[in-house]
Amino acid sequence: ATPTALMVGTGRGAQLGILIKGPEVLESTRRADTIVLDKTGTVTTGRMTLLAVHTAPTTTETEVLRLAGALEHASEHPIARAVAAGAVERTGGPLPTPEDFANVPGLGVQGVVEGHAVLVGRTRLLAEWAMELPVALERARADAEAAGRTAIAVAWDGEARAVLEVADAVKDTSAEAVRRLRALGLTPILLTGDNRAVAESVAREVGIDEVFAEVMPEDKVDVVKRLQAEGRSVAMVGDGVNDAAALAQADLGLAMGTGTDAAIEAGDLTLVRGDLLAAADAIRLSRRTLGTIR
Ligand code: ADP
Ligand code: MG
Repeated sequence: ATPTALMVGTGRGAQLGILIKGPEVLESTRRADTIVLDKTGTVTTGRMTLLAVHTAPTTTETEVLRLAGALEHASEHPIARAVAAGAVERTGGPLPTPEDFANVPGLGVQGVVEGHAVLVGRTRLLAEWAMELPVALERARADAEAAGRTAIAVAWDGEARAVLEVADAVKDTSAEAVRRLRALGLTPILLTGDNRAVAESVAREVGIDEVFAEVMPEDKVDVVKRLQAEGRSVAMVGDGVNDAAALAQADLGLAMGTGTDAAIEAGDLTLVRGDLLAAADAIRLSRRTLGTIR
């Protein structure tokens, strides 16, 4: 490798909004045959909106949104932002401050609001506390997920009380980016902690055939290891704290510049604008740079 060629390559990279950690990264771009894409914040905008609130007969929409919104206000998760913003908008008032709060990674949030022990998240979080959705709410959850939305359960004081529907839009450029990645010989795979129905609906929209859904944050790295054990050379694109270990494990880690610091530190390459098209640009540019070096 001549230093001049590398500088040209990385200089052009900077122009395209691609930051490369070091010259050794370039070689990984040549070998990569598989590209794992995180869903939320990578393929989708990660900006979610609260679309609907389904409540049990024991409560009201306002009460649900005050308690759920108060907890979610303390979290930075894209779903939490949507719930907190929707709660302020729909209740028209300030939200209470939780007396206690904890993130439960990959599952949701839990805490105490106005003396109530509140859970907001996947039904699996409720199951950990031996709670399940009543029939009407379970139906609302299934319908929402079949429609490609994310359903979030709300429970307090030992009882499931509501289902919230949130949705997140696929980025305009994601489908074109997947096409270009395929043209570069990479097989795209979608990886997410979100439910299977939502994951498959997003995969269909952008043209991905292989989906790993409902993967816990700590298990994302195992998906990458499993693919590597099959003899694949794996590139991974992600944005979240959840993705950091998988980005580090991947043969080539691409971090969304719009994502968390943990992801950016773990990646070999940063896509400054947070646009998946830059992933295809980065791989094409790196391969071309290697071509001039050899
Ligand atoms: P992804 O892998 O798509 O980036 P996460 O691993 O962050 O998703 O979250 C997985 C799932 O856990 C979400 O789809 C949601 O159902 C639930 N979840 C996580 N955090 C929260 C939260 N703060 N509020 C509600 N639900 C949450
Ligand atoms: Mg993400």
